[in-house]
Amino acid sequence: MVPFKTVLCDRDNTREDLCIECKKKLSSSEITELEVVVSRALGKISKNAPITNAQFHRAIELEDVIVLLCSGNLGSFIGKQGRSVAELSKILGKKARIIENTKNEKKTIQDLIGSCRIIGIEKKFAPGSTQTVIHILKEDENKLSASRDSLEKGLERVLGAKTTINFA
Ligand SMILES: [Zn+2]
Repeated sequence: MVPFKTVLCDRDNTREDLCIECKKKLSSSEITELEVVVSRALGKISKNAPITNAQFHRAIELEDVIVLLCSGNLGSFIGKQGRSVAELSKILGKKARIIENTKNEKKTIQDLIGSCRIIGIEKKFAPGSTQTVIHILKEDENKLSASRDSLEKGLERVLGAKTTINFA
């Protein structure tokens, strides 16, 4: 059985302190406070219902949900009859949702924003920065899964670039 991976080293998943390496990741913003909290929550859950062959990559917080981007055996984050994800939601104090961490940017964006129709994804390159503009059909504005602000912030974390949602 392959153990699961989080943004922390294996040891730090199950303790309160961070090792020097993980501390460095946090202070350089490679990982976030939220991702540390989620990693520890997963470490706790995995003791009773082992998460295997799976990796937790990133977490973002929208208004009423914390979205976890994961890869591998996603079912082991969910658990039998959804028990693990329910437990996770309880620990985090907010509904947890698992989505696939994929290199397919459009799929990730679609998973996050909900059932809005994407007209186009535009990349604006400027010296030292990239900006992503997601064009969404105007009539689908009310189908956004969360507020535009929180989605833009979350997408910025996930895509690694400043992101704007535009209704056209
Ligand atoms: Zn560590």
